[in-house]
Amino acid sequence: MKNIQKIDPHVYLLIKNEIKRQQDNLELIASENFTHPAVLEAQGSVLTNKYAEGYPDARWYGGCVNVDTAESLAIERAKKLFNAEHVNVQAHSGTQANMAVYFATLKFQDTILAMDLSCGGHLTHGHPYNFSGMFYNVVTYGVDKKSEVLDYGQILDLAKRYKPKLILAGASAYPRKIDFKEFRKICDKVGAYLFVDMAHIAGLVAGKVHPSPVPYADFVTSTTHKTLRGPRGGFVICKKEFAKKIDKEVFPGIQGGPLMHVIAAKAVAFRQAMSPKFRAYQRQIVKNSRELARALTKYGFRIVSGGTDTHLILVDLTEKRITGSDASGVLEKAGITVNKNLIPFDKKSAATTSGIRLGTAALTTRGMKENHMRQVAKFIYEAIEASDNPKELAKIKEKVLILNRRFSLYPELAKS
Ligand code: PLP
Repeated sequence: MKNIQKIDPHVYLLIKNEIKRQQDNLELIASENFTHPAVLEAQGSVLTNKYAEGYPDARWYGGCVNVDTAESLAIERAKKLFNAEHVNVQAHSGTQANMAVYFATLKFQDTILAMDLSCGGHLTHGHPYNFSGMFYNVVTYGVDKKSEVLDYGQILDLAKRYKPKLILAGASAYPRKIDFKEFRKICDKVGAYLFVDMAHIAGLVAGKVHPSPVPYADFVTSTTHKTLRGPRGGFVICKKEFAKKIDKEVFPGIQGGPLMHVIAAKAVAFRQAMSPKFRAYQRQIVKNSRELARALTKYGFRIVSGGTDTHLILVDLTEKRITGSDASGVLEKAGITVNKNLIPFDKKSAATTSGIRLGTAALTTRGMKENHMRQVAKFIYEAIEASDNPKELAKIKEKVLILNRRFSLYPELAKS
């Protein structure tokens, strides 16, 4: 970072501080990960200089020979990785990938059936403040009140009643496996498109530890930066018959020039995701989250749905008499980063919440295993118990630091 240091010491310093923050804290935000230095290199490369509106071999600009190769590689690798008929890798984000699917399939005020936000759905699945909630008539399904898992009978009933044009499966805060075959059956019964947003579980799908939605869905979208461990971005998978429509919606429909440095970084991430090492990594993520859930249960935390099948755990703090927002503040003081999250049928607001969401992808990237998850659970327990005691929280932060020092992150960057 010699150039930034010279030209803009302010930005240099904040990046240095962020490296330290990521190194020193326990990163448990379920949607985050530490991407590989090779991905960082591609993303920080001269490819950022290139305009390339259009698609490989059909650009509006000259000089695209190298970026054409980068994009073709990303497409081919993603197709192989997910066994997909068509992939568009240009979506700048998960939100834009979702927008492309909606715009390719729906008209203004068409009905969609999607997961309720409080049960795990995402803003782009029909929240009133998001374009999806403003443009479409949104009907939501939730989870069963007792088991807190998806109730496919309820989804079918809603589908029959409201006849949605599109049914959305996939979530931001649902810890259990999703039965995509069951969703397909429901869609076929009512003539709806099946759209799966696998942003959270894409790495698990690539690593074959979660069933793939690709054989069943008309459209699958994802981010690249969560369990998949790539750069920040999105992509769309679809059946061949929708390929032209999707490509047209992404560009020129909703985006201009693709971010070629990010697309090259996606290609690197897809290549890494094909390796046996990546599959072992994904298996470890799930082992770690199961162990973390078990250990938290022993410390008296209630885990929504009683456990997890994925990288993600939803903790109900009601019995601990602390809100999700207070808990996330307390944990931050102890060097543990989480986010507040609504739990199913939450009586609190989205700003307060009764729960927190945890994920193990980032800590698994650092090399932590089940025994470390037991330590992490103990730190969380101790911190929540000591929520009014700054001295105790500082002591826990010291212990967190000692654990983190054994799992160094980006050592080359820390030195630069
Ligand atoms: N879809 C799901 C399920 C998500 O969890 C997220 C982000 O957390 C997104 C879409 C949106 O991704 P982005 O933040 O890249 O727009």
